[in-house]
Amino acid sequence: MATDDFTPTLSMLVDSHCHLDFPEFGGRMEQVRGDMAEQGVTHALCVSVSLSGWENVRRLAQTYDNFYASVGVHPDHVAEDILTEADLVQRAQNPKVVAIGETGLDYYRQTGDTSWQRERFRTHIRAAREAGLPLIVHTRDAAKDTLAIMREEGAEQVGGVMHCFTETLAMAEAAIAMNFYVSFSGIVTFKNATAVKEVACRVPLDRLLVETDAPYLAPVPFRGKDNHPALVRYVAEEIARLRGVGFEVVAAATTRNFFALFKRAARRNDMGQA
Ligand SMILES: [Zn+2]
Ligand SMILES: [Zn+2]
Repeated sequence: MATDDFTPTLSMLVDSHCHLDFPEFGGRMEQVRGDMAEQGVTHALCVSVSLSGWENVRRLAQTYDNFYASVGVHPDHVAEDILTEADLVQRAQNPKVVAIGETGLDYYRQTGDTSWQRERFRTHIRAAREAGLPLIVHTRDAAKDTLAIMREEGAEQVGGVMHCFTETLAMAEAAIAMNFYVSFSGIVTFKNATAVKEVACRVPLDRLLVETDAPYLAPVPFRGKDNHPALVRYVAEEIARLRGVGFEVVAAATTRNFFALFKRAARRNDMGQA
């Protein structure tokens, strides 16, 4: 088999974070899924950003075996500021729900009194602990408070992922010490994202995840165009290039990490249902 003309089959990849319930994907699911299959992207996690949109996220995960769901309210989502643990825990009983989030702090887009964000972040962490599910954390310009709240609320007990990571290596390391993974999006392919590229080189392979955050942040060479889960391949390729390893090394590690973190997804997979 080790001849020059041997072409390996595409390595399996997982998009650990996308928003396929957004209107951008309306009526396009067969195309999206066909593109995924072509690029060897075998699974996708559909991440919830609001309770009002959760029904659509749930439906996607219910309809397609290889899609999973999370439940949570995004820190930029000002409405639904009254959110209880029970709101989340009850929805998390659905077996296709593999995580709580996305949640976290975003001081870049939300200014003024942001105490409601911090309270809501705490609610998510408490719900994750009660449900026994990992967290999907969004953090922007709020590193100190994000880590402090994670620490105070015992986020370490459930672990999770710092998604679409653009913060410092020190923050990545602090999160990893709390049982978290670090996920990179198409931003890592942008020419000017020097700091993010550097962090993507340094995060241990067994703590690395890849995502699209579609429909946003399409990787180079599709920057500015519509993003979709198949393009996670370009994210993994860039990380492999930066680290000086083969693409299949990053593909295998991030896929293994995905199922190690989102254990409910792994269980379904073991049962041959996904
Ligand atoms: Zn986010
Ligand atoms: Zn997102």
